[in-house]
Amino acid sequence: MSQIPNSLPSYLQADQLGPWGIFLQQVERVTPYLGELSRWVDTLTRPKRILIVDVPIHMDDGSVAHFEGYRVQHNTSRGPGKGGVRFHQDVTLSEVMALSAWMSIKNAAVNVPFGGAKGGIRVDPRQLSRGELERVTRRYTSEIGLIIGPTKDIPAPDVNTNEQVMAWMMDTYAMNLGENSTGVVTGKPIELGGSLGRRDATGRGVFTVGQEAAARTGLELKGARVAVQGLGNVGSVAARLFAEAGSRVVAVQDHGGTIYQGAGIDIPALIEHARHNGSVLGFPGAEAIAKDSFWDVDCDILIPAALEQQITAANAGRIKARLVIEGANGPTTPEADDILHQRGVLVLPDVIANAGGVTVSYFEWVQDFSSFFWTEEEINARLVRIMREAFASVWQVAEQHQVSLRTATFIIACQRILRARELRGLYP
Ligand code: GLU
Repeated sequence: MSQIPNSLPSYLQADQLGPWGIFLQQVERVTPYLGELSRWVDTLTRPKRILIVDVPIHMDDGSVAHFEGYRVQHNTSRGPGKGGVRFHQDVTLSEVMALSAWMSIKNAAVNVPFGGAKGGIRVDPRQLSRGELERVTRRYTSEIGLIIGPTKDIPAPDVNTNEQVMAWMMDTYAMNLGENSTGVVTGKPIELGGSLGRRDATGRGVFTVGQEAAARTGLELKGARVAVQGLGNVGSVAARLFAEAGSRVVAVQDHGGTIYQGAGIDIPALIEHARHNGSVLGFPGAEAIAKDSFWDVDCDILIPAALEQQITAANAGRIKARLVIEGANGPTTPEADDILHQRGVLVLPDVIANAGGVTVSYFEWVQDFSSFFWTEEEINARLVRIMREAFASVWQVAEQHQVSLRTATFIIACQRILRARELRGLYP
């Protein structure tokens, strides 16, 4: 009998782990709570499929540039792969693997019928002209066209990608196929089968879980001081909704700088300012503070809504907030998570807090299949209901096992994924 190889593939080995290593630690933490299903846990520690593609394009100056592209399908036991595509100069395979795995957990946590996937291109889109951006997007889509599709894997927007990028992706896929295929991506413009409410969905979900947590912990949203990192699609909407609820957004940080205004920042005006000036810096009435001072800001609610690994062992001890709501994916390192937990800071983890985006992506996908479109009221009402129900289950499991909300979300999600895994069985 031959030796059965069961060690980790080389690209999953410890010296190369990065963000994927964080995901593995999270799985390790949850395994004792999975009972009989824990025998399937290795399914989660290896992505189902990883595709690395070369993305060559003609630059405007006549030269040819090559970019690195990825699409990772972490798990498809509960449905087709689902998750965004990010364009960022620091994208790595480890990061995309971790993000794809967090999509599996997130989709299972809110119980939408998707597995988890993620994609990315290692490129700084700010350095590209519009034409170059379109060519990068189309070539990447054509390359990953082998494995995406409305019933296979459905991309969506993520960091630095938007409705226009989704329109190009959908068009490229449909042109290659020779047929209409709106359901291949979500987060599209309304004119091309996008969904009402999708643009605001992630921020609205962040706000909804914030309301739920505030109600359970006796935190009054009216007058609460909020600090937001990131003024993109997630941070801007969350900031606006908290401000509308009477909270004071006292600090905002983006890639250009950090501003503070104790009386509360006028969020719609700030969004306008950032749109024109490329950053929050120079916003009238607010003072600019040092980047690192953001973590010392006196606030009740902190919303990291930018990139991964922002709250670390170096700043977790300084955070004044009672509530941290993870709008971004993976903003808190495991060490920081423990420090916050010990200090009694309640963390609403990414895998539930920012699930509003993919929830409305699910609605978009359903609407595209039936070519029957819902009203924005209907969409928002369904979104809020799903977020509240998912949050209530997470809260209950956290109390039952006396674990963090992150571990509780992982318990619920891993049970759902592994139960599906078990029912499907192995093939052949
Ligand atoms: N990129 C978003 C996320 O991280 C949305 C993914 C989607 O809608 O598929 O959840």
